[in-house]
Amino acid sequence: MTETKAPTLAQQKKEELFLQRTNGYDVLTQEDREAMERYCTAYKHFLDEGKTERECVSYAVALAQQAGFRPLERGAVLNPGDKVYRSNRGKGLMLAVIGSKPLSQGAAIAAAHIDSPRLDLKQNPLYEEKELAYCKTHYYGGIKKYQWTTIPLALHGLVVLRDGTQVPIRIGEEPGDPQFTVGDLLPHLAADQGKKTMGDIVKAEQLNLFVGSVPLGEKGESDRVKLGVLDLLHEKYGMVEEDFLSAELMAVPAAKAVDIGLDRSVIGAYGQDDRVCAFACLQALLDLEGTPETTAVCVLADKEEVGSLGVTGMQSAAFDVFMSDLCQAQGVPLKSCYESALCLSADVTAAYDPNFADAYESRNSAYFNYGVCISKYTGARGKSGASDASAELVGRLRRLFAQHGVLWQLAELGKTDQGGGGTVACYLANRNIDTIDAGVPVLSMHAPFETTAKLDCYMTYKAMTALYHS
Ligand code: MN
Ligand code: MN
Repeated sequence: MTETKAPTLAQQKKEELFLQRTNGYDVLTQEDREAMERYCTAYKHFLDEGKTERECVSYAVALAQQAGFRPLERGAVLNPGDKVYRSNRGKGLMLAVIGSKPLSQGAAIAAAHIDSPRLDLKQNPLYEEKELAYCKTHYYGGIKKYQWTTIPLALHGLVVLRDGTQVPIRIGEEPGDPQFTVGDLLPHLAADQGKKTMGDIVKAEQLNLFVGSVPLGEKGESDRVKLGVLDLLHEKYGMVEEDFLSAELMAVPAAKAVDIGLDRSVIGAYGQDDRVCAFACLQALLDLEGTPETTAVCVLADKEEVGSLGVTGMQSAAFDVFMSDLCQAQGVPLKSCYESALCLSADVTAAYDPNFADAYESRNSAYFNYGVCISKYTGARGKSGASDASAELVGRLRRLFAQHGVLWQLAELGKTDQGGGGTVACYLANRNIDTIDAGVPVLSMHAPFETTAKLDCYMTYKAMTALYHS
């Protein structure tokens, strides 16, 4: 038997003065556990349905319509409690629930991105070599190229035919579908390859997608395998080789989202950066009951992985136009909404990886199961590229999260001079909107199979719910 001793003075002082870090499983209620599982089941479904930004938008629009959202029309009268959305060219999505307070008192904005690293097909992709047919790819986003070889890939996208017909493509997702792959050299012959550095082990121009090997036509004729592949594409989709020029096709990992670990505490899937936060922002908005005080806005942006540029990226005026259309309905100048708004830039951060401890600074790292991660700043080296939120803003979030029972941690991405990364935060902050990064810690970020902890996914949903109630 052990006696319960009274805490020492030092223990009491530590309790009072030290920063307490909490493993979420030490505080999670049974009710929260069940809600977490339900939430993560819906999230895994979102991942399987949305492997490209276009598919994410289609799926999110369907969910939003079910929840009573309607397309925002310019000049429409908007009342508190109204739910509206606008698709940005089918690749980005903005949604809002109008609050009881006027937009001159700001908005609560959650901004995530729905594009993920992948292998895009080049515009003239299809070729045959030694009677094997391949498609040339151009990688999108920051990848370790070797990781994209020898895994099953699916082909997703859109082809615009000569007559303007739009043909959606999704091959490799249904049971029985064929899939695709990029090859790697056998270890038996990899003596030279083994001496190369990471970026050269597999070169960009070796990321060629195998698509077929059965010849069509008579022995001795040229390009018979390429012809066989084109014939199949023509039969199924009505496309000819020239139609690749007006297509966006992408090879993405074919694997589905699954539970990882005997205790099922982790989710493994492609594209969790940043669909894990996108789903949290979206689901929290769809779940809002009644009329929030502050207008709640969810932005799902494209092109973050390549700099947030372009008409569907976070730097595009599409967001300002959406917000000014909301403001116009209340006769509020956009600038007064922005200057009072609060934005959580919802993007993932690196979780501490004990297998690669050298890359991390353990005192300022994010950990699995310690909740949603706030990053005061991102960037590289001397915070280059960071929007660096203020102490006041972090203070405001501390109070908000405490009020709503959100388990959170604050961290930066790895060792100071080891690398770095950016998010959409700076593009919202540039608009005169108070913005801070908040998201899920991820292991193996940008790999074809990324992992996240269910507890952190759920806490990020709770964080977005808290934001919408701010
Ligand atoms: Mn991201
Ligand atoms: Mn990323």
